[in-house]
Amino acid sequence: MAELMPWLEPWYRRFVAAMAAERAPQALMLGGPRGVGKEALAQALAARWLCERPLEAGESACGQCRSCRLLRAGDHPLAWRLAPEASLGNEGRQITLEQIRDLQEGLSLAEAGRRVVTIVPAEAMNRFTANALLKVLEEPPAGVSFLLVTESPSALLPTVRSRCQVWWIAPPARDAALAWLATQEGGPQAAPLLDLAGGAPLAALQWARAGWGRWIERFLAEVGGEAPKSPLTWAAGLESWLKAKETQESGFGLEAWMDWWLRWLHDLARVASGAPARHFPQAGERLRALAGRASLRTWLALETKARARAEWVRHPLNLRLYLEDVVSDYADLIGGKG
Ligand SMILES: [Zn+2]
Repeated sequence: MAELMPWLEPWYRRFVAAMAAERAPQALMLGGPRGVGKEALAQALAARWLCERPLEAGESACGQCRSCRLLRAGDHPLAWRLAPEASLGNEGRQITLEQIRDLQEGLSLAEAGRRVVTIVPAEAMNRFTANALLKVLEEPPAGVSFLLVTESPSALLPTVRSRCQVWWIAPPARDAALAWLATQEGGPQAAPLLDLAGGAPLAALQWARAGWGRWIERFLAEVGGEAPKSPLTWAAGLESWLKAKETQESGFGLEAWMDWWLRWLHDLARVASGAPARHFPQAGERLRALAGRASLRTWLALETKARARAEWVRHPLNLRLYLEDVVSDYADLIGGKG
């Protein structure tokens, strides 16, 4: 078994202890911010649940048995993984009713005994699919362990949530995250991205490996408003940045920019309320100067509005207009003139 990240180990041990006491949760919701290792934890728990010869001393899955090998190959007949599938008519990246029905059928056909169902991300279930899953959760077949991975447990149907034991996987302490990053390939380059990633080491590492470190300065120069722009020119510049070959090749696009944008607005609201910046501590002075230009209430309203806009980030009808709309209030606030 691949080594589990140190901050996930207590959760893993908790699961193993519950298994030993024969009270492992039938349905477990692994919540936590992106890039904190929820999927790695789910994989480790699934391996442990299914392993035929767990190592007693280390309490770990053996990594060698038939079950461990099949699971690693993504080919275990008793392990289901439900994730949004890219297909026609599924641009919203939803888990479909058909997937839940296939699961139901698979569970009814499969031999009894230990089985595991991982749903990732669980918030990709809409009301209908969640209700279909609820029927399974209400009368779960014996031996089936459900692992629901999500960034926002509160976005799930309360009836589904209440069937689950909910674990919130918080990012590790900064020192622990940096120590772990130092041992990873590309990790040193990830250190400056750790705060921006909200302390989530895997997110920082992924961004660093994609070369996103170079985009921070550009992002900050624009949002920091050193050179005030009108929303129109700003949106035009943003569009050409996001569409540039180099940008796209690094995997940085509208979704990533919007994610950073929300984090920036969040920091402004924090600083306006007297708290320290969380994602952009290196821009603390700039944040303080900007935060003073409006009331906390205004910054909070701006953040709320931006979050609503972000719902459409995957399919804006028109990129330029979308960007104009997203930056317009902010540009007015920090002094851009039409
Ligand atoms: Zn094994």
